[in-house]
Amino acid sequence: MFRHACLRLAPLPCVNRNQVMKFFFPDSSDFVDPSFDFLTEERSRSRVRQRDDKYAHELLDKPPYDGVLVSKAAVDGSVSGSGKYTVAQKLRFYREGVRKFMRLDDSSSQHLLAMGDCGAFAYVNEPEPPYRTEEVLDFYESGQFDFGVSPDHVILGFDLNAENSLPGIDAINPDWIYRQQITIERAAEFLACHNSRRCKFEPIGAIQGWSPTSYAKSLNALQKMGYRYIAVGGVVPLKTKEILAVLQGMQNVLLKETKLHLLGVTRPEFLEEFKKLGVVSFDSTAPLQRAFKDSRVNYFADPEPFTAIRVPQVEGNPRLQRNIKAGKIDQGKAFDLEGKCLSALRRFDAGSESVESVIAVLLDYAELHDPVDRSSAYRKTLEARPWKNCECAVCRNLGIDVVLFRGAERNRRRGFHNLHAFRRCITSPHSPHSF
Ligand SMILES: [Zn+2]
Repeated sequence: MFRHACLRLAPLPCVNRNQVMKFFFPDSSDFVDPSFDFLTEERSRSRVRQRDDKYAHELLDKPPYDGVLVSKAAVDGSVSGSGKYTVAQKLRFYREGVRKFMRLDDSSSQHLLAMGDCGAFAYVNEPEPPYRTEEVLDFYESGQFDFGVSPDHVILGFDLNAENSLPGIDAINPDWIYRQQITIERAAEFLACHNSRRCKFEPIGAIQGWSPTSYAKSLNALQKMGYRYIAVGGVVPLKTKEILAVLQGMQNVLLKETKLHLLGVTRPEFLEEFKKLGVVSFDSTAPLQRAFKDSRVNYFADPEPFTAIRVPQVEGNPRLQRNIKAGKIDQGKAFDLEGKCLSALRRFDAGSESVESVIAVLLDYAELHDPVDRSSAYRKTLEARPWKNCECAVCRNLGIDVVLFRGAERNRRRGFHNLHAFRRCITSPHSPHSF
């Protein structure tokens, strides 16, 4: 029966092992306000966030990814703290489906794919995945997804040599075995229901493991059920050599026609290697997140990334606010230095201010909000003026503002630029990047 289900779905897959690897971008309601004025820092009063704000695939000239990955946990918000959607957004998502909700068909002739998963990290501390198989299928089917990943349960541990331990010594953690088993059982149930309901999306079976051998065991089990597209889960915290060991460990059982997806992995320098081992797709938020979460790598560029220049808003910076309230910092001085930094950066961009004088005022302000000497990184960014060399819509429209580490509108747009640069990197055959 399972094999039949797979054969019936054979014409559907949009991803195959001979194509360039597909990049899916996990959605976290990452959009920007096109009405935002970077000089006055004001928005249009008539702005309606979900209606007017733009996703990366709408703001850039070409979508920077092949598709989006949307988690049920993010939409539902049913697991504590995991929801990214408001109640109104959630209702609209269920009413409209992913394609209309994320305007996947509006912005370009490219057909953006939609993959759904359960968002296993959101419920990693629960005893089992909190969703019934039927409701997961409902989410994918009524949401009009192209692909749906079976419910899985993340194993919080990895041991490259687990199976080499002596019997009775260092026995495998029973929780790991339990989580693997429940993931396999859910995959079987998911495919059976998918088949009986004749769902239109392509089912992807998720596997979990704690070693190359245990991943191979799961892969084997799911292939026997009939899955030909397998998502390798739990690999986010692994080192590259461990991911490679997992993929290599699965080669003995991996069928020629089986495709692999790496959940949450960004290693652009190893994509060719992954591809040789059967990986056809992956997803990652890293290009966006590093724009404002990394201490050094904030702006992706060829051949080296740059550090963004921190000019926080006095009113939006917790450290500054704390120190102002405690009387340790004079509020007027902070506002004055913030304004001086912005003016100096604009004069620099217009060619009427030197790098060193900009850095001097940046350091004066940094003493108040970020007492780390970033002058050499800032010097590199300013001297290279990378925004002048990038053709993406963000850099064209923002100029120097794209490298300012300041507020969500700039930081997220820099993340969009990073997605653009990342896309170029993974589609270029001899890319040297290692963002
Ligand atoms: Zn750019």
